[in-house]
Amino acid sequence: MAFPARGPRRPTSAPGERELRKVLELERAKGYADSAVVGGLDRFLATVLRGGALRPAVRSRLRLARGYRSLDPRARERWVREVLQALDAPDDGRGEARRTARADAGPPSDAGGHPLDLPVRAVRGVSAALEARFERLGVRTVGDLLTFFPRRYNDYASIVKIRDLRIGQEQVVRVRVWSATERVIGRGRKGTEATVGDDSGMMRVVWFNQPYVARQLKPNTEVVLAGKVSLYQGRPTFENPEWELWSDDLTHVGRLAPVYPLTEGLSGRTVRRVVREAVERFARFVPETLPEELRERYGFPEAPEAIRQAHFPESTEALAIARRRLAFEELLSIQLAVLMRRKAFQESAPAPRLPMPEAVLEGFLASLPYALTQAQRRCLDAILRDMDGERPMSRLLEGDVGSGKTVVATAALLAAVANGYQGAMMAPTEILAAQHLRTLRSVLHAGGGEGPLFTASPPYLPRPIVIAYLAGSLTASERTRVHEAAASGQADIVVGTHALIQEGVTLPKLGLAIVDEQHRFGVMQRAALRGRGSRAAHMLVMTATPIPRTLALTLYGDLDVSVIDEMPPGRQPVRTEWKPPERRHEAYDFVRREVAKGRQAFIICPLVEESEALQARAATAEFERLRREVFPDLALALLHGRMSAREKDEAMRRFRDREVDILVSTAVVEVGVDVPNATVMLVEGADRFGLAQLHQFRGRVGRGSEASYCILLADDPSEEAQERLRIMASTTNGFELAEADLRLRGPGEFFGTRQAGMPDLRMADLLDVRAIELAREEAMRLLEADPGLERPEHRLLRERALRMMERTIDEVH
Ligand code: ADP
Ligand code: MG
Repeated sequence: MAFPARGPRRPTSAPGERELRKVLELERAKGYADSAVVGGLDRFLATVLRGGALRPAVRSRLRLARGYRSLDPRARERWVREVLQALDAPDDGRGEARRTARADAGPPSDAGGHPLDLPVRAVRGVSAALEARFERLGVRTVGDLLTFFPRRYNDYASIVKIRDLRIGQEQVVRVRVWSATERVIGRGRKGTEATVGDDSGMMRVVWFNQPYVARQLKPNTEVVLAGKVSLYQGRPTFENPEWELWSDDLTHVGRLAPVYPLTEGLSGRTVRRVVREAVERFARFVPETLPEELRERYGFPEAPEAIRQAHFPESTEALAIARRRLAFEELLSIQLAVLMRRKAFQESAPAPRLPMPEAVLEGFLASLPYALTQAQRRCLDAILRDMDGERPMSRLLEGDVGSGKTVVATAALLAAVANGYQGAMMAPTEILAAQHLRTLRSVLHAGGGEGPLFTASPPYLPRPIVIAYLAGSLTASERTRVHEAAASGQADIVVGTHALIQEGVTLPKLGLAIVDEQHRFGVMQRAALRGRGSRAAHMLVMTATPIPRTLALTLYGDLDVSVIDEMPPGRQPVRTEWKPPERRHEAYDFVRREVAKGRQAFIICPLVEESEALQARAATAEFERLRREVFPDLALALLHGRMSAREKDEAMRRFRDREVDILVSTAVVEVGVDVPNATVMLVEGADRFGLAQLHQFRGRVGRGSEASYCILLADDPSEEAQERLRIMASTTNGFELAEADLRLRGPGEFFGTRQAGMPDLRMADLLDVRAIELAREEAMRLLEADPGLERPEHRLLRERALRMMERTIDEVH
């Protein structure tokens, strides 16, 4: 038994995979209400994890940073599905490979697993109670512990003399204990008071509420103290300093001392001691994934050494290079994962070449009521170039709200049609799909065949383009008709919602698949749309979610990216103002004045989290109030998620056709809606919405040439919400907002509300452009030399990348 597990043996009655499956299936049946087991799933999961009879793949899936309870229903559903999948997977292949690979790095333990998979309890001095506390920090195995990196380091390296202590600074002394006694100090609580000295003088030290320190500080022992020096009765003193008995191998003081994230009942001292044990016993088993050549080129230490230095650095230099290496390793595996995914996509099957006939492009541009912006032109060129090749395009078209992505997409669809192929365009909501249908029809003048594309002599196209619409609101017979038109190739373009990727839809001549607002869809849905065709189609995905470049490289690394970084001319920035609720009437007056000028307004109802039904009810009440009490003389319409597609469509139509002055809506108008005559966006309860969503709301106005306004009302915003509102008022640049959002909330939260999945990065900084670009370069170089990463020296790297891809990237797109 090479690595005996310490602490209590696992109870034989602990629930295992079978019980876990039962509970999760029940949870699924009960609609993810956390009601499958008494006391909640989190407690049950903790027991299962402690029980330990789990395969690593299952175990790693069970980890939840903030518990099942804190997940929203969608995230719960996804997580349950994943765990069930892991439970279903036969225990072979990758799991096995991973174990063998790791075992190469050291002897296997008694359990047949790898030392790094041992529970935290395997570390000397870790009790079951302590293990449970670590678990709250997401640390379950020895491997987790080793990658539980300090948040920062206290520079307790340079020891000074008592005589030289400076008040108010963090400093370290090495002293002898003269006396140490347990006493009542301060607010009547027991603590320790000690007198210590070195050859330059003596000083007083107190530890509030820590009487036990007195028992550990025997007179004449040598200790090192570190902390901020304060003044007590005119003399320097330490209050609650970090301390450690002197040795030539210090853990807490006299060095760069790690500072870890803590949780209740887990002191910095304890974490340091436990990590230290773990590092000493287990760091050597950390497998080296970086090829030697690369490591040498960068002067990186080997993996175990890097882990050691990251926790207990010998010097600032050693620390810096260790951290750089660990971060690089994470970024490299992400880049390898996305590049391998991209390659798989490109090599899956050749796509049809779809060159855009010069004349068709000319006719199209001539038929537009405006000229494309340079940015639109540049992006369109890139897309058309891709489509003129056999390698399937996989391009992301990114552009802030209102930058004009739809017209670019339309031109791309036209290229497919001009070559006798079909195009499909999928949008996340019916409102949006219907809007696209209208845009396409008006630009391509399909039905009548009377537009400039056809009437010019010679005509640019032989016959009118047939555009079909597919969404949930269609009747069964309408749907059947569209299915038939799509399957026979009679429909050139099909626009729609998720209905496009449902059973029964085939597009035998699909040449181009477009996904709008792609962050609303999953990768499977994206692939499914492309899969409606019989050959590999080109793929264009569009998003208005401004993603900082670093993140784009990470999350969309498998896509080529084009950015429309310019707004159509004549747009005026939307003036944004944040008003307290007592000035609500001013906002209403303003709306009224704009309406008098012939403009229209949106009023967004406050967010009600509980359910769409409640949300709908609240919106209806607000709508009634506004209509009766505030704007009795104006025409108002209501829009919420519980209305039928037809009702929604009708409300949008009336607003668009100016039959209605004010559209009162829930967050359903968040994406894509385009009504250029609307100039006011009034958001109630603005503090409840995130920056990204507020930016989307604001993007609904300022789409014409009139000056537009966004008014944010917030009743009692928190500090953080106030910061958000201030940022909103200070910039209209989506990228700036996204970066601010990312800084404000951190990557986890940033993506939590925006899209699922996020690489599990322990060390790397997703805002570090240079590091990410470097990792990408190296990943490309590696894949060029060894496309499948099959050489022995690349095997571990490949496994790590595959794990990264499976765990995160899948969820992201
Ligand atoms: P988004 O990128 O948010 O999807 P849209 O494609 O909905 O933006 O375009 C926003 C509005 O701008 C539409 O009304 C569209 O007709 C108009 N538009 C697009 N391109 C131009 C342009 N080059 N010049 C003027 N108006 C444009
Ligand atoms: Mg759009």
